[in-house]
Amino acid sequence: MAEELYDVIIIGGGPAGLSAAQYASRAKLKTIVLDKSQAAGALAFSSRIENYPGLPEPVTGKDLLDTFRNQAIKFGAEYVETRVIGVKLEGEIKEVSALDKTYKGKTLIIATGAMGRAASIKGEKEFLGKGVCYCAICDAAIFFDQTVCVIGDSEEALKETGVVAKFASKVYLISPSKTLKLSEHPPFDTSKVTIMSGYRVMSIEGNSIVENVKVRSVESNEEQDIQTNGVFVYLHGNKPIVDFLGGSVELSEESCVSTNKMMETSIPGIFAAGDVICTEIRQVVTAASNGCIAALSAEKFIHHRKRMKYDWAKS
Ligand SMILES: Cc1cc2nc3c(=O)[nH]c(=O)nc-3n(C[C@H](O)[C@H](O)[C@H](O)COP(=O)(O)OP(=O)(O)OC[C@H]3O[C@@H](n4cnc5c(N)ncnc54)[C@H](O)[C@@H]3O)c2cc1C
Repeated sequence: MAEELYDVIIIGGGPAGLSAAQYASRAKLKTIVLDKSQAAGALAFSSRIENYPGLPEPVTGKDLLDTFRNQAIKFGAEYVETRVIGVKLEGEIKEVSALDKTYKGKTLIIATGAMGRAASIKGEKEFLGKGVCYCAICDAAIFFDQTVCVIGDSEEALKETGVVAKFASKVYLISPSKTLKLSEHPPFDTSKVTIMSGYRVMSIEGNSIVENVKVRSVESNEEQDIQTNGVFVYLHGNKPIVDFLGGSVELSEESCVSTNKMMETSIPGIFAAGDVICTEIRQVVTAASNGCIAALSAEKFIHHRKRMKYDWAKS
């Protein structure tokens, strides 16, 4: 079977990526969105949005995101939940390596947002690949029948705990917030998981591999050690997520993707939109606007047009 070639591959399923997907698919471009998780982006984290134009009543970020996604899919965009881990951008056809497979496309739109963080826990960097991990689907099996700590309190952290708990014999879910919100049916085997709400991880320790994490109670400041073989970290920050680009696209000193006003990056055929680009304003409406521009720029690039085309209803 011939390998599928997309007109537009979009990395990231937040408002920037999904707006790009809507415009690209409505322009009859074969479009796919590769999204790490529906619960990992900035909009998914927002409990209340009341300044998105056209919506007079407040909505949750999750509901607004669902609307964006459904609209893009309705126009023909494919949506796949998978994490992108690398790109190859030299040739005419761009390659995007994700956890499930490699995708090929004529153009690429980077829309991964700015919820990334630099390693900030003592020992996190030192033990990366030696027990410290960021992706349960990639690494959970390594810890078969062992003890593992998962750090974080987001929906993503809960889901990943479920994956880890399929392999590990014991899991500590360590959440800095005092009241971790668990649904009636948490996505993991509760008999294996000990929840530690209101604890900060102070350090990850060991010799050549991880052996221990030191946690401190937010309330009492008391410290305790947890013996563990692995640590999965799902804390969020505010750094543009660009690690998978491997330096292939020009970044600014702040590690955001440099673009011009048409969302073009340093490489022809590669565009970027939303919080991942160098911008002072990070809002849903600006992310959506960037996504629109990036998709129309991709359309212009593919069809070698001199001018933008934007009224697809007339074609
Ligand atoms: C708590 C909070 C409250 C906010 N409140 C408001 C508000 O009231 N009004 C407003 O306008 N804005 C608000 N914002 C800002 C707004 O949410 C962001 O500006 C907007 O979501 C940016 O959109 P984005 O698509 O660029 O990035 P995001 O929404 O962050 O989406 C990025 C997507 O990329 C995916 N991704 C990341 N890495 C990978 C990878 N390697 N492979 C595949 N997919 C990947 C993520 O899973 C995510 O789905 C708020 C932000 C936060 C954090």
